[in-house]
Amino acid sequence: MFRTLDEIEVRGKRVVVRADLNVPAKDGKVTDTTRIDRSAATIRELAEKGARVIILTHFGRPKGREEKYSQKLLLEPLAKAVGRPVAWADDVVGSDAVAAVGKLKDGDVLLLENIRFHPEEEKNDPVFARQLADLGDIYVNDAFSTAHRAHASTEAIAHLIPAFAGRLMQVELEALGKALEHPEKPVAAVVGGAKVSTKLDLLGNLVSRVDYLIIGGGMANTFLFAQGKAVGKSLCEKELADTARTILAKAKTANCHIVLPVDVVIAKEFAENAPSKVVSVDAVPDDWMILDAGPASVEAIIDRLGGCKTLVWNGPLGAFEIAPFDAATNAVAKAAAERTKEGKLLTVAGGGDTVSALAKAGVEGKFSYVSTAGGAFLEWLEGKELPGVAALSSKSSGCGCGCGCAH
Ligand code: AMP
Repeated sequence: MFRTLDEIEVRGKRVVVRADLNVPAKDGKVTDTTRIDRSAATIRELAEKGARVIILTHFGRPKGREEKYSQKLLLEPLAKAVGRPVAWADDVVGSDAVAAVGKLKDGDVLLLENIRFHPEEEKNDPVFARQLADLGDIYVNDAFSTAHRAHASTEAIAHLIPAFAGRLMQVELEALGKALEHPEKPVAAVVGGAKVSTKLDLLGNLVSRVDYLIIGGGMANTFLFAQGKAVGKSLCEKELADTARTILAKAKTANCHIVLPVDVVIAKEFAENAPSKVVSVDAVPDDWMILDAGPASVEAIIDRLGGCKTLVWNGPLGAFEIAPFDAATNAVAKAAAERTKEGKLLTVAGGGDTVSALAKAGVEGKFSYVSTAGGAFLEWLEGKELPGVAALSSKSSGCGCGCGCAH
């Protein structure tokens, strides 16, 4: 169990917040402030409650101190998002950082320079983590998207001072918990995307957790091939046919019903508006490729979702970037959004391409929760323990008593 900001008195305390402000930028300017805007809630709340807020984040992948990865460009959009001035320190540890923290008054906000300028960060170095922890009285992790990495600012620090989940982290953990850890059943998972090989752990975990595993995208071709069907020149990992059969057998033992396409949209080339036709999965000609699930498959999937209470989604059902091979993804996404709106289905989706596919289908804001966490979301779907989340549990965090004191 993790503790939240509701369980702590922060007035006058120095609160070290690990945020993820790793935003896209061009020519020294932030081009998309989404991550800053989403992180602002926790920072604003802490400042309004009288905390002295010290922000740790990384930006890009610097190799040591590289000025092009300086976080100064974040100052202006961050100040705008939190509605108050944001102070700056040229380093995350050492005399600059200590002096800047010393100047903070209740309600002030300070952004420190890129934490990845120090290689100790990614090594989860205990001495570096101690320096970070010494900047504050309390630690708040609001960066779910980096929680799959055991770094000094995401893991080690949480054992040194009382640790709490920020609001973004809390919302994400609660949504994910409802989707897989203690879901309302029946639970369905849609897993699509290009290849089985990148999602083996994920499929292995889901078959033991969900009632229906709906497989689409290029990876469905490998399963169809494993069942003895001809897939023409479709994307297909033929060498993984045995693995696919093992997953099918594991699903059967776990009472998980696998849903594969019954018909498919095929074309001769992977190109926008390439001439296409719908055929049964038993009738894919040698020189054609499967690029989407067909209308009968879509109907069967939507039908199946009709009986479910929870849906977890990762990966498109077809080559969604190029019309008309986005049709299955769009139709199923819209049906899921509709059932979410009616309060009949809890829908949680995530993973890089999934977010763009849902946005393209116009339903991004219509799912119960769409995670933008990428790698961390996928590792969670794989059933792995995320070090940054585990470190927040009251047993392992800096203060186990729950009162917010600095024991
Ligand atoms: P992933 O990153 O594994 O979620 O894969 C997403 C990619 O899978 C997208 O770029 C899709 O175009 C691609 N994809 C989905 N279905 C197919 C398919 N039937 N054939 C080729 N690529 C596909």
